[in-house]
Amino acid sequence: MLPPIRCFTCGAPLGHLWEEFKGRTSSGESAEEVLSSLGVYRYCCRRTLLTTLTYVEEIAKYSIYKRYREKVIRKYYLEHEEGA
Ligand SMILES: [Zn+2]
Repeated sequence: MLPPIRCFTCGAPLGHLWEEFKGRTSSGESAEEVLSSLGVYRYCCRRTLLTTLTYVEEIAKYSIYKRYREKVIRKYYLEHEEGA
């Protein structure tokens, strides 16, 4: 996954904050608090990091779902081959 290197709007560098932001939010800290403690106060920068997190979660969900779906499809075909 590509971390945001810079804020899309104001160009402030954010790449060095990404790992900590991701780690702390995934261990249960609220994104709002993590952003404030990292010194990210501008709304554009907060939005850039937040939307990246949401995006990563969406992609992860999709890839889990896709893997699950492939498993179901494979199982279906295996069962039908055996029955034939
Ligand atoms: Zn910004």
